[in-house]
Order: sequence, then structure tokens, then C-alpha cells
Amino acid sequence: MTRISAKRDDLIALTQDLVRIPTLNPPGENYREICEYLKDRLEARGFAVELVRAYEAPGDCEKYPRWNMIARLEGPRSGECVHFNSHTDVVEVGHGWTTDPFGAELKDGKIYGRGTCDMKGGLAASIIAVEAFLEICPNFAGAVEISGTADEETGGFGGVAYLAQKGYFAPERVQHVIIPEPLQKDRICLGHRGVYWAEIETHGEIAHGSMPFLGNCAVRHMGAVLTEMEDTLYPALAQKHTAMPVVPERARQSTMNINSFHGGQAEPEAGFTGLPSPCVPDSCRMVVDRRFLIEENYEDVKQEIKDVLEVVKSRRDGFSYDIRDMMRVLPSMTDKDAPVVGSVARAISEVLGKEPEYVVSPGTYDQKHIDRIGKLKNCIAYGPGLLELAHKPDEYIGVDDMIDAAQVMAKCLMELLKPE
Ligand SMILES: [Zn+2]
Repeated sequence: MTRISAKRDDLIALTQDLVRIPTLNPPGENYREICEYLKDRLEARGFAVELVRAYEAPGDCEKYPRWNMIARLEGPRSGECVHFNSHTDVVEVGHGWTTDPFGAELKDGKIYGRGTCDMKGGLAASIIAVEAFLEICPNFAGAVEISGTADEETGGFGGVAYLAQKGYFAPERVQHVIIPEPLQKDRICLGHRGVYWAEIETHGEIAHGSMPFLGNCAVRHMGAVLTEMEDTLYPALAQKHTAMPVVPERARQSTMNINSFHGGQAEPEAGFTGLPSPCVPDSCRMVVDRRFLIEENYEDVKQEIKDVLEVVKSRRDGFSYDIRDMMRVLPSMTDKDAPVVGSVARAISEVLGKEPEYVVSPGTYDQKHIDRIGKLKNCIAYGPGLLELAHKPDEYIGVDDMIDAAQVMAKCLMELLKPE
């Protein structure tokens, strides 16, 4: 596909334009601007483009509206629809950058900036792939769709979840979905592990810190919960292995992160020079982030944590707790025999001269909504860039990697949309 190599400058400029629109999420800035940019480009190529705002989705408000862009082009002959879905939001910049995070500087074949790798480089590669395909095969069968969606980094509820609820990812409309997340150009990502987030609160009673025996310390109760988790739950999780090909390999088991731990007085404001007052904490809250496997049952995952709390309760006087479910995502794994998997695999071996590696992501991405709400099983993540660079300072995308991935995507279109 020399046509894609010839589009190198266009691909670089497109990626730079996208990165220079700072779509930081939270709070969800410039979604309208990036959607308008994509709309102008794709309308000029004959796409019918819709901008859809996710009214009343979490975070949607007049200041930060959740805009999404969906473009569709029907071929002259009937057939199936291939959809490329990319999220347009990027995470906060953070510290440690040596380049301008929204400058999109091109240096030694790499474009630097927040969102280059995750995932504006993938979005740009898919657009270039589709444009090259349309030039070579104008008489194709079926339809091509490209979407740029909001809020993936914060759960996707104002993006793909909303669109799936509105029928945009229904199997009657779309048959193949490729999400160009940065999973590496020679890997096909079949899905992701499941997630359970819960907030645990232990209760106590406030008293003077010099007479703690008159109160009941919620932080010590939570300490006992942590100890019990260390002694029994963590070793049990380490024993649960999965057949899912999760990368990195250490994520091929159940894991749990303690996301946050708050007890007692709130942190003082920056610059406050006073001392805290002596009080026994009457509340301690901890958020746990449990990642589970396709072999596990969601109800069992929840029960395990409850069991820990019940064990502690049976041993400690004055122990009481609440547990609140915050988020649940079931594991998702597309069948290796699914048509889009086979097509991308053949394209990878043709373009890169090697067999693809099949992987599963340790964390979730928008496939969860396409699978659960859209009921569309023929979905993968495939795109350029190294996952390890996502959300890091000096994030970059390699131009050659984008070209290779675009060639794979274009080849895949040529197979699935059967041009004459
Ligand atoms: Zn991403």
C-alpha cells in the first residue's frame, strides 16, 4: 500500500492538529471543537456526519458538554459495516514533561504530546486508512463508520455507552468494530478483565485523642480490615490464574488495588500552618479496585470482600461497616474465530510479515459498552503505539508505527468490504 506511505505528511499533520486541541478529561474540554474538526474533514470525503451530545451523562453540562462524532459512508453496493471507534479525550498532563504537551512536536520520527499514543495517533491512522481505502476501492460493498467519542478515560458513559444506548452500536447497523487503542501494531487485543470498585467504610465514635478509650477508632478498624486482606484475600487472589492472554503477564491473575484510604480529619489546605486537633476518627473510608477474570463470577468477587469484613466483625468489639458498590464491568473477550480478528490477523501477517500476538488488556476500555449494551461481539482493539507510554510524561507516537497500523487497517477493509 504505497498509497498510505504517500500520505505520511497528511498523517503527521492530522495527528498534530488533533493533539493541539486539548481535550482534557476531566473536566471534558473542547469536545465540540474536536468533533467539528473531524466533521469538516470527513464531510469533505463524502461522509454523513452526526454530532451527538450525551445529555445528562455524568459530567455533561453547559460548560462541558459531552459531544461525540459519528461519520458513516455507504458504499455503492450493499454489505457489512466496519466501524473504527476512537476516544477523543486525554488524561491530565502531570509533571515531568520535556516537550510541550499540546505542541505535537515532531522529532526523530515521533510526535510528542498528551494523547499522541492514547489515542489520537490511532484515530489519525484509522482516518488515513479509510481515506486510502476509499481512493483505491470506491466501488466497495457495505459501509464504513468512524467515531470520535467522549469520556473513555472516565468510563465512557458520555461516549460509547451513550451511543450504544441510542442504537449506534447495534448489530443491525454495525458488524465489525476496531478500536485503535495503543495495543501495538502487531497485537490484537481481544478484550479486558472485569472491574469491581467498592467503597468500604468503617464506623467509630469521636472522642478526645488523649482518652481514646472513650471513643472508637474507625482507622484502627480499617487497619484490621487491611491486615485480614493481606493475610487471606491477597494470597487467595494470587492463586487465581486465567487462560486470558493478559499483558503484562503479571496481570494474568486476580488483582486488587487500594485506590484510596481516608480516615480522621481532612487534609489541611495548602499553606495552613496550624496543628490538627486531637480527635478519635469516627469514620474511615477505603476504595478498592478489584480486577477479575473471565473464569470468576461477579457475585463471588463481591462476596469475598464481604467475607473479609465479616471475619473482622466477628473478632473485634465495636466494629461496624458499610460497603457501597461504585462500579462494575464484566470481563469481555471476543472469540479468536470472530471475523474481524481473522481479517486483522491476516492483514498483520501480510504487512508486517509475522503472526499477530493475541492479548487481553488488564484494564477496561470502551469494548465493554459495545459488548454489553451494543450486544456486538465482533469487536477488538487494534492500533499503533505502546501501551506503556499512555498517561506518561513525554508520551509519543511513532510515525512509522502509525503508517504500518494504517496499512493493516486498510487491508482489513479491503477484505471485509469486498471491493470488485
Ligand atoms: Zn485510550
